[in-house]
Amino acid sequence: MILVTGGAGYIGSHMVWLLLERGYDVVVIDNLEKGHSKAVLGGKFCKGDLKDKEFLDKVFSENEISAVIHFAASSLVGESVQNPIKYYYNNVYGTLNLVDTMIKHNVKKLVFSSTAAVYGEPENIPILETDKTEPTNPYGETKLAIEKMLKWMDTAYGLKFVSLRYFNVAGAHPDGIIGEDHNPETHLIPIVLQAALGIREKVTVYGNDYNTKDGTCIRDYIHVLDLCDAHLKALEYLEKYNKSDIFNLGNGLGFSVMEVIEKASEVVGKKIPYEIGQRRPGDPSILVASSQKAQEVLGWKQKYNSLEVIISTAWKWYSTHPNGYDEK
Ligand code: UDP
Repeated sequence: MILVTGGAGYIGSHMVWLLLERGYDVVVIDNLEKGHSKAVLGGKFCKGDLKDKEFLDKVFSENEISAVIHFAASSLVGESVQNPIKYYYNNVYGTLNLVDTMIKHNVKKLVFSSTAAVYGEPENIPILETDKTEPTNPYGETKLAIEKMLKWMDTAYGLKFVSLRYFNVAGAHPDGIIGEDHNPETHLIPIVLQAALGIREKVTVYGNDYNTKDGTCIRDYIHVLDLCDAHLKALEYLEKYNKSDIFNLGNGLGFSVMEVIEKASEVVGKKIPYEIGQRRPGDPSILVASSQKAQEVLGWKQKYNSLEVIISTAWKWYSTHPNGYDEK
């Protein structure tokens, strides 16, 4: 049985769907602070928090867990700068409790949800796993602290982990049955599609004076189901080689903010209103991953790697669920 923490969230719920599809038994834990119980399409659901040791112990005692895929975390960069205590508490302390419980119950395989934010301002494009890690916000710092903690848990207790550093995750299940529903929403593709739906008046482009082809920031957008498939490959890798490692997960392709708005206009078949605004503090001009290592070592291959497919699957979700999981 695979334990998915944060399985009611955007990425976690797609992971649960994929695991069930591939015949795995799944147990989900989520505190539902940001997640949605309706997003969990199967498996056993346990409501609770990683900071609650008794709860964790109960979940591990009552279920035959063989490995953990760990998504549960606070993940808003801006909020992490305002409230670092919350981020160290939820992310670092929460993961420490999880790992402590895993070791007590002799569960020694973990796939960890990390982030491109561990790199901070990149020194090379595309970014390699061996590049320097110097986060520019507490969110990235907590994820890097966890990666370092896991290394020592491996040395001392033989806990094997694969840490996956995500770039810009987007898109949704192609049937539109689950998707992204954040409050507040801060990510570009959902914001652009909300503007297309008229839920928000317009998109504010955060600066067009960067040193890029059209002056807007370039990011590496990866489809959520390709990302989840990499987690399955990571599980198989742990099973087969019983070895810890770290991988980037991106498309290797960069798209500018303006390219995203233009492609979204094509997908939805109408002009999307936007204005050019100020730069957002802390935004690097270009973030593009090299995912060559994941391809070579994990044997990962993307299926949904065009911007059009990423945006059209997201549109399928938003156009059928304009209020997200809240059906009001
Ligand atoms: N962005 C923007 N307007 C928005 C939201 C995002 O111009 O309303 C830009 C942002 O500056 C960045 C890119 O879109 O260059 C992707 O931002 P997002 O917040 O989706 O992801 P991040 O790269 O920050 O993880």
